[in-house]
Amino acid sequence: MRQFMPRKIYYEPEVRKYPLGCSLLEKYEAMGIDAEEIENHNRIPQLRKLPDTELVRLKKYLILGVRKSLRLIPNKLSADFIVPFTSSGCSAMCLYCYLLCTFFKGSYLRVFVNREEIMKTICRKAAHLTSSTVFELGSNSDLILENTVTGNLPWVVEQFARLPNATATLATKFHMVDDLLDLNHQGHTQFRISVNPQEIIRQVEIGTSTLKERITAANKLYQAGYRVGINIAPVILLEEWKDLYTGMFRTLNQGLEEGLKQQAFVEIIFMTYGQANRIINPAALPGTIDLFDKQLMRPKGRGKYCYRPEVREKAEGFILEQIRCHLPRASISYIV
Ligand code: SF4
Repeated sequence: MRQFMPRKIYYEPEVRKYPLGCSLLEKYEAMGIDAEEIENHNRIPQLRKLPDTELVRLKKYLILGVRKSLRLIPNKLSADFIVPFTSSGCSAMCLYCYLLCTFFKGSYLRVFVNREEIMKTICRKAAHLTSSTVFELGSNSDLILENTVTGNLPWVVEQFARLPNATATLATKFHMVDDLLDLNHQGHTQFRISVNPQEIIRQVEIGTSTLKERITAANKLYQAGYRVGINIAPVILLEEWKDLYTGMFRTLNQGLEEGLKQQAFVEIIFMTYGQANRIINPAALPGTIDLFDKQLMRPKGRGKYCYRPEVREKAEGFILEQIRCHLPRASISYIV
């Protein structure tokens, strides 16, 4: 089990008003982990002033706070609504992580302990639903990783099981799913297992689970009756990308349960790379691969880059062909 063990806790005093806040503080205090009070999880001056080279150290900290913004955001891709949920940030260090563009060095794991209030917002919305509606819970973090800290997910799955028209969805690059397998989920939670060639996971998705571990997790979730999707994200066009993705699709074909392959829904997301990634990665993680390729990429909005249309079109055709060959019964949800 890959469990996140923080080196230090920073916490808003208000978290003591919530059972989860109290239990987390007690748990880590009993382990001898230092905890420091902060005014606001959004502004931690003593961390903000540290140089980019300290990112690896910052990622080992855990911030505990109370989520104030509980507004559901309409969405048209993976879900009907994006929910600002129980965490943001992550302890892993994927070189392309878009959270680095939003939070910069503050992309460390923040856990919001007011899960009941957050869930109430969803329940209020669900009470008025007349048709099946999907809520994306993990757009700002990885909830399977967060679950190793909070144990929130079994509770969340059981809450959704009671909401007639609501389905929870979340994507993950982690494999620690064992405490989700015996739950009465009623089919109201679905998981999207994020995949990439193992060589890309090793070099780029630093601190996440291996492809083999993710395939095993996908099979376990499928056997437990969950709907399981495959999230090919992000597609990264390294020099040998065709060989890498061909190998990945072969591994998926061999490793995934037959039934899973038949019901799988596939999302394909091409990499967007940020100026923040370009600046912070070499300072924080010297010697890691540079994902920016000026031959293949073009600017996309402020401070971001994406693959040029002609490059992307070619890669898209290749990926779709691989899916037809190795996962012929799977449906494609979207390509972006
Ligand atoms: Fe970012 Fe997701 Fe990687 Fe965590 S697992 S660093 S949230 S991309």
